[in-house]
Amino acid sequence: MKDYFQYYRDGSSLKYVGAHTVKSFPLACGYCGKSVAPNTGYEIVDSVDGISWTVATIYECPFCKNPVIYFNNSKETIPGAKYGREIKNLPENIATLYDECRTCYANQCYTSSQMIARTLLMHIAVEQGAEEGLSFAKYVDYLDSNGYIPPNGKQWVDFIRTSGNVANHEIVIKEKEETEKVISFLSTLLLVIYELPNML
Ligand SMILES: [Zn+2]
Repeated sequence: MKDYFQYYRDGSSLKYVGAHTVKSFPLACGYCGKSVAPNTGYEIVDSVDGISWTVATIYECPFCKNPVIYFNNSKETIPGAKYGREIKNLPENIATLYDECRTCYANQCYTSSQMIARTLLMHIAVEQGAEEGLSFAKYVDYLDSNGYIPPNGKQWVDFIRTSGNVANHEIVIKEKEETEKVISFLSTLLLVIYELPNML
């Protein structure tokens, strides 16, 4: 039987045509963020001179039902896993940008991810009373001196300030590890400012 990949939307859920049991694989779903071990989907098989091998597998996420592709050679998952925790009670525009920041990370667009994270940090500072039009470092200082950074966060503040304070004429390509730190810092601030106060 020929393997083929087709799915359609039925109300709120996706229906897969001809999906079957495939070798189970643990992954973090880039759509719903859950750690799952899907075992249904489709294999993409290549063959030369009668020898065939699986190039990639399209998995059906057992939780949100979206398709996640795993490539055997590069060991890459598309979409990749988002980084940073989910935060409750975010204002809509901040929630949208924070999600975009995490999605850029999942798609290995680290420079874009950090640009959004820094924009959000500046926006938060202004929302919490900082003047407009300051440098990035000044906004981080503002958050620090107004008690938004947890005690012992001095090293974090220095790191975020120096990594983000790039002059406008410079182009600096950002890497994965630094991006993870910036998102961690941002998510902690969002947690402290938006999620925790609203829990009371
Ligand atoms: Zn999912």
